[in-house]
Amino acid sequence: MVRSIVKYPAPGLEEICTPVNDFNSDLKELAGDMLETMYSAPGIGLAAPQVGVNIRLIVVDVTAGQEDGHQMVLVNPEVTEHSGRQKEEEGCLSIPGLTAAVERPSWVRVKAQDLEGNEFEVEGEELIARVLCHEIDHLEGILYLDRLSPLRRDLLRRKIKKLIRAGEW
Ligand code: ZN
Repeated sequence: MVRSIVKYPAPGLEEICTPVNDFNSDLKELAGDMLETMYSAPGIGLAAPQVGVNIRLIVVDVTAGQEDGHQMVLVNPEVTEHSGRQKEEEGCLSIPGLTAAVERPSWVRVKAQDLEGNEFEVEGEELIARVLCHEIDHLEGILYLDRLSPLRRDLLRRKIKKLIRAGEW
């Protein structure tokens, strides 16, 4: 089921999410819904708080479903190592239509659990590293806006306020 995506400035997007302890059928259903929601957007990553559920679950597919074998579901993900730097344009399904250049590590290693609770690790560089960092930030209540300079952040916030006032958000 495609769920509706929570848009900035919903307070739920700025909360720290709860760790997942129950690897039950509700969790699997939510992960399936999140993949469907991400693909229908379309997007390359989605975090549970973006569909209004404040738990530590993210889904990623840097091909947005265009190629098989890139789908990732990560429960309780954590960046354990990172290196390098990249600064590229970044967007967010909760901040539709806007982008900004955000600095991220160029490589990360992430520890997570699958939907059965088994631990695994993934490594990624470039776009994968960027998406993993972006989605894991969501679990801490951090949006990419928070990673911009105060000047750029205010500019984007003003644009969003204008869109909200115009009923275009
Ligand atoms: Zn986002």
